[in-house]
Amino acid sequence: MSNRAPQSDGGWAGGVWAAGRGLRLPWASGLRPPAAVLVAALVTIGLLDVVASLRTWPTAVVGLLDWPAHLLTAWLVLAALGFRLSTTVQGWALFAAIAIDVDHVPLYLHWHLIPAPDGRPVTHSLATVVLLLALTAVPRLRAPAAGLALGLVLHLTRDLVTGPGVTLAWPVHGGGVLLPYAVYVAALVVVTAAAVLVGRRRETEPGGVHSS
Ligand SMILES: [Zn+2]
Repeated sequence: MSNRAPQSDGGWAGGVWAAGRGLRLPWASGLRPPAAVLVAALVTIGLLDVVASLRTWPTAVVGLLDWPAHLLTAWLVLAALGFRLSTTVQGWALFAAIAIDVDHVPLYLHWHLIPAPDGRPVTHSLATVVLLLALTAVPRLRAPAAGLALGLVLHLTRDLVTGPGVTLAWPVHGGGVLLPYAVYVAALVVVTAAAVLVGRRRETEPGGVHSS
């Protein structure tokens, strides 16, 4: 199995895997964050969740604590993938990792479009992921839709262990799914370790990344 990113062919693989070497964005292809930065991201997520658990915070504060943790979770997964997805896909994924929570707005307006009391909106479900994946059939929407689908999956990964969980199987099943927080922690530790190893391997690859 090759460690090199597949060459761009202009099709699906090209759209998703193309190496964008322009701006050095925090999710730029070829980026190799130091292990300390990756571990710091993991620790920051933990600290944010510790603060969030200290008391019942106002909704705005809950968001300010939760969204950075969502963003860092998604970023760590992209790092574990070696930032090999296209910059466009990764950008949309990071955007979706927090933007999906805009579906909470109707709740604050007291439009309770949720299947269970105090639950999250039904748009927090695999049905939305499937819808976004269907949109990848439209060539112009392929990269944004793929990124949004990935970002939503990463968002749900965290929501599955916090608050009321997620109505994952809506509309087939309206019940909430809530997993132990320890599952998320274990997954994050594995993802962070993978990101560190991927960074080191790329450093030692022939023709690998040697950023200053
Ligand atoms: Zn959410």
